[in-house]
Parts: sequence; C-alpha cells; structure tokens
Amino acid sequence: MSRVYNFSAGPAVLPEEVLKEAADEMLDYRGSGMSVMEMSHRSKVYDTIIKEAEADLRDLMKIPDHYRVLFLQGGASQQFAMIPMNLMKNRKAAYIVTGQWAKKAFQEAKIYGEAVEVASSADQTFSYIPDCSDLPIPEDADYVYICENNTIYGTKFKTLPNTNGHTLVADVSSCFLSEPVDVTKYGVIYGGVQKNIGPAGVVIVIIREDLITEDVLPGTPTMLKYKTHADADSLYNTPPAYGIYICGKVFKWIKKMGGLTAMKEINERKAGILYDFLDESTLFKGTVRRQDRSLMNVPFVTGSEELDAEFVKEAKAAGLENLKGHRSVGGMRASIYNAMPVEGVCRLVEFMKEFEKKNG
Ligand SMILES: *Cc1c(COP(=O)(O)O)cnc(C)c1O
Repeated sequence: MSRVYNFSAGPAVLPEEVLKEAADEMLDYRGSGMSVMEMSHRSKVYDTIIKEAEADLRDLMKIPDHYRVLFLQGGASQQFAMIPMNLMKNRKAAYIVTGQWAKKAFQEAKIYGEAVEVASSADQTFSYIPDCSDLPIPEDADYVYICENNTIYGTKFKTLPNTNGHTLVADVSSCFLSEPVDVTKYGVIYGGVQKNIGPAGVVIVIIREDLITEDVLPGTPTMLKYKTHADADSLYNTPPAYGIYICGKVFKWIKKMGGLTAMKEINERKAGILYDFLDESTLFKGTVRRQDRSLMNVPFVTGSEELDAEFVKEAKAAGLENLKGHRSVGGMRASIYNAMPVEGVCRLVEFMKEFEKKNG
C-alpha cells in the first residue's frame, strides 16, 4: 500500500486513522455482525452512531441548545435553494458575492425572491474579501448570505460582515471545523462534508431553532423543509447513514487532536509554511490579498501556463496529487484541510524549492 499526499479541494483527504478504523469495522461493526452500510437506520446500533456524532459535533463547536443540527443530503448546492425556500419570508435577502459558490447561491435565490448583491469582489477575480463593515442591506431583508471560505479563490472572511442585526447565513463547506467559531453569530451555518469532514453525500446544517418554521414559501417540497428533518432528528427518510458514521469518527479524531483550538494552531502552522515560501519565492506567487488568505485552500501560479502544467505533472509523479487549480482560474491550488499532515505541506514546499531551482 502506498498513499499519496492528496491536495484535492474535495472530496479530499481524510485522517488515515479514521479510514483504518472504518476498514477494521467493515465486515462486523462492533459485534453487530454487519457493516454500517448494511444496517437499518432505525436500529438501536445506528441510533447510537448518529446521536454520538451529533453530540460530538455539539461539543466541538460548542453549539448552544437553541440550535439544531441536521444531517441532510443534496450537497451544499441544495442549500442554495433550501435557504431561500425556508427563510425568505419577505422574499428579500442580501448576498455578498466573493466567488463562484456565493454567486451560484445568489443566482438560485433570485428564483424565489429579490436577492440583492450588497458587496462583491468580482472586479479583481475574487482575490480579496470586500469591506463589509457598512453594507447597503435592505431593512426588510430576511438574511445576509456569505460563503465564509472561498474554496476556488482561496479567500476567507477573517471578520464576519456587519449584518445590521439581520440573520447571518454562512456556507462553511471548506472551513468547517478548521478553527473555533462563535455559533451564536449565525442563524444558519452549513456545509457539504466532503471538503473538511467526511465522504461526499452528507450536508450538515446548524440552524437556530426560531428559523425552523412551517412558514415556508408555497410549493416547498416536504424534503426541502428544515422542519421536516428537525422534527424527525434527521431520520425523516433514510439518511446518508455510512457517511454520517465516518463524520462521527472524524469528530472523535478532532477531539483527540485537541479540538478546534488545536486544529486552528496546526492549520496556521501548515498554511504558514506554504505562504512563507510563496512570499519569498522567485518563481511562485500567491494570488490572494495577504489579509484575506484562507488557511484551507492556497492558490498559486508561476506566471507561465506551461510551467504550471509541468509543475502539476512532476508533482504528481513525486506523490503530491491534485494540485491543479480550479478549471475556472488555472494555476495551482493546494488544499490543506485538517487531515493533511504537516509533513505533506513540508514535502510540497521542498518540491516547490527544487522546481524553482530547476526552472527559476
Ligand atoms: C464544494 C463547495 C460547494 C458545492 O458543494 P456540493 O456538495 O458539490 O454541492 C458549495 N460551497 C462551497 C464553499 C464549496 O467548497
């Protein structure tokens, strides 16, 4: 067996320990005589799995009791519709457009009501986070929407926008559990787990209880109402059972590592190694304004498309995989999520130094 360092933006690297444990339990989950993939989601064994997963997540993020945790499907993209369907009582919402995912959410919301773009960084290819201290948010907007970490462009909100008292909704797909958060600052925090938590197929929604109502837009399908899933503790229908089981293991792994404070420290160390090199390199350049740099997704370029392609190719041959930038921006992107070991980032930087020497 030989594993590579996988810098994929998602689905992405998972802790090796978690994968090994899942492998050990594959045929017989703790004496049940079956795999978690094969068991009823209504069984006692599975009930313990999903309840423990929720309890551990609550513990990690210090989620207050008046917030619900929902394990859903449909990807983060389905939330682009679910959010307006459930929250747009006045049919108006403010969107901060900082990249393609925010833009997609913004465009989807327009189907359901008046989505207002209150800030954008499109003018400089989303390479920065706009000033959000004093935004023209309509008084009757139902919520303010952000994509907190922009997976494709490598930017991150370091301070949350001033919402003027409006409910904040955040897509945290690519920074979920990467650092401590104050849940009470948000109405909804959600993300697909395939970036920083688990396998594709699970979306976690953390939502303040008062936002879960029957008062949704007319025509909202039963499956797309938060209330349906909240009332049934995420077991209204068959949940992505195996995925939730792996997420639960990752929560336990993070707890063992020291929780979100420790995660942040390690993530800052890893990102620091890469950014420090990018700042001194004569060949490679980071593409993001310094103060807005993400700890999770690090885009960089050489300035030559041919060299970029050559770099990605040679890196792959050296066991450093999935470094090609998003198809919309080109260049390179190293996603260095929680499960990427420090050694992986060190190896990448060593490799970049060698490449620079040969091609600089
Ligand atoms: C990947 C990603 C999405 C889309 O996720 P799907 O689960 O594929 O729908 C949305 N938002 C962000 C920030 C992402 O990184």
